[in-house]
Amino acid sequence: MNYYSLNKKSKNVSFKEALIRGLAPDKGLYFPEKIMKLPNSFINNLKDFSNEEIAYECIKQFVGEDIPESDLRKIISDVLSFDFPLVKLNSQISFLELFHGPTMAFKDVGARFMSRCLAYFLSNQEENKPVTVLVATSGDTGGAVASGFYKVKGIKVVILYPKGKVSNVQEKQLTTLGENITALEIDGTFDDCQAMVKTAFLDNDLLNKIRLTSANSINIARWLPQMFYFFFSYRDLKLEQGDKIAFSVPSGNFGNICAGMMAKEMGLPIDKFIASNNINDVVNRYLNTKIYDSKPSIQTISNAMDVGDPSNFIRISNIYKNDFNLIKESLYTCSFTDDETEEGIKELISEFNYIPDPHGAVGYLGAKDFIKSHPNYKCIILETAHPAKFSEVINLYTNNLEIPSQIISVMDKKKESINIDSYLAFKNYLLDI
Ligand SMILES: *Cc1c(COP(=O)(O)O)cnc(C)c1O
Repeated sequence: MNYYSLNKKSKNVSFKEALIRGLAPDKGLYFPEKIMKLPNSFINNLKDFSNEEIAYECIKQFVGEDIPESDLRKIISDVLSFDFPLVKLNSQISFLELFHGPTMAFKDVGARFMSRCLAYFLSNQEENKPVTVLVATSGDTGGAVASGFYKVKGIKVVILYPKGKVSNVQEKQLTTLGENITALEIDGTFDDCQAMVKTAFLDNDLLNKIRLTSANSINIARWLPQMFYFFFSYRDLKLEQGDKIAFSVPSGNFGNICAGMMAKEMGLPIDKFIASNNINDVVNRYLNTKIYDSKPSIQTISNAMDVGDPSNFIRISNIYKNDFNLIKESLYTCSFTDDETEEGIKELISEFNYIPDPHGAVGYLGAKDFIKSHPNYKCIILETAHPAKFSEVINLYTNNLEIPSQIISVMDKKKESINIDSYLAFKNYLLDI
């Protein structure tokens, strides 16, 4: 399988090259040349397949010849070494818990898949020039990438995060590993962090000296594996005749929801995607006004979705042939304030005895809003992080939040980070390591 750049000015490349480059030389996002439908015999009989088998069937066309079957199966089984439970709230709504991995956010799946594929490619090549993985994070990506790449030979990870704008647990996950992982603290917003990373990828002086790749969801190896859990949960949901299915996806950069759309393109019968946003809702406004008007991000309690200009929206447009009406047919959007999110948290705790994280609560509000006008749907909400990652917020509403051992152990460690105040300082840092 080859990938083309959505800017259409670079040559097509294999999975391996798209993964290593992150972004095409013309700065476009890579997109697969073809999306092949999976056989009906597979889609209709998902219940006969394990998570690992499903993941292999889904991803093999996108990896192509670049990783042999046995190695790819090994990578997948290593990546998926935790559960993806579906928790039913009522007859219509379920939570798909994606937080049972090492950093307790859904990004563990993509980060682990990318790191293992990259390690595979580096171990199988003669020249052993190290790769520096850059990642801008609004909270969860950095931790998942740090954990996924920790101690992987030949790879250095540099994380940029906005000072004072990530939760305590998130910050500890970013800043306490050491070894090949460094955290840079930026005096600014997530958008400023992302802008620095983008500038680095445009900086030929830098690119001539070091090998850079990105581990944000622009990287196909981070993005594509996210399609797995749409298949897992579809398998686990008990559908009845006439039921339609919608996924409510708490969305920031729109990578997760776009992976779901890929699953649909491959034949998974999903009827609707709900992009549940906080007040950073450029796509919602676009679908209501036809005007795409990106704005600087505003800080909220669901901070992993504080994104002003979602980088994967261009992939969504591409899936739907840049046709506004086709996008609107498939995608339902909505946006909620922090006050509404807090009401959602309270309601989930009091009515269902379910403790969500703030992102999951936004997903719940989106599902509720959608179901009002679509009563014949069953809705799966992606619960994208463990509530204990946001205990500052969640403890206001319950005394029953249990702190998992992964989080307790990281909180005891000492933070180490470097303050960076300009692109030049960032560049000099990269040239020095
Ligand atoms: C990253 C993240 C999101 C947003 O996912 P996108 O793929 O960027 O849309 C939502 N919730 C949590 C907890 C996250 O970490």
